[in-house]
Amino acid sequence: MNNDTLFGRILRGEIPCDKVFEDDQVLAFRDINPAAPAHILVIPKKYIPTIDAAGPEDAELLGRLMLAAAEIARQQGLAAQGYRLVINCKDHGGQTVYHLHLHLLGGRALGWPPG
Ligand code: 5GP
Repeated sequence: MNNDTLFGRILRGEIPCDKVFEDDQVLAFRDINPAAPAHILVIPKKYIPTIDAAGPEDAELLGRLMLAAAEIARQQGLAAQGYRLVINCKDHGGQTVYHLHLHLLGGRALGWPPG
């Protein structure tokens, strides 16, 4: 599958990003339009368009995304007060970039429910 999404271009180094974490399967970088004092996007290097497109073969990778987010939150000093992890899925979920990503939001108290 050809990954012509914005995050595919970031993964290929065609667009710069403010990287905060990388391993062999995961990349994390700061959101260009932060919705909170800390807003980091955690993405798999594998191209999966949406969480709806993930399958059982992705179970370990999805776990690694979550654990990477928790580790980044600790590194960024967000863990003591807490934070939020969000995955937007398709139109009603508010997804705009069709490469699966997890939002890590923190640095202030966040409202609930979301709009
Ligand atoms: P979504 O709406 O798909 O859940 O999240 C996409 C996110 O990507 C948005 O929060 C948006 O601000 C962020 N974004 C859009 N363009 C860029 C970019 O060029 N660089 C970075 N780092 N983030 C971007």
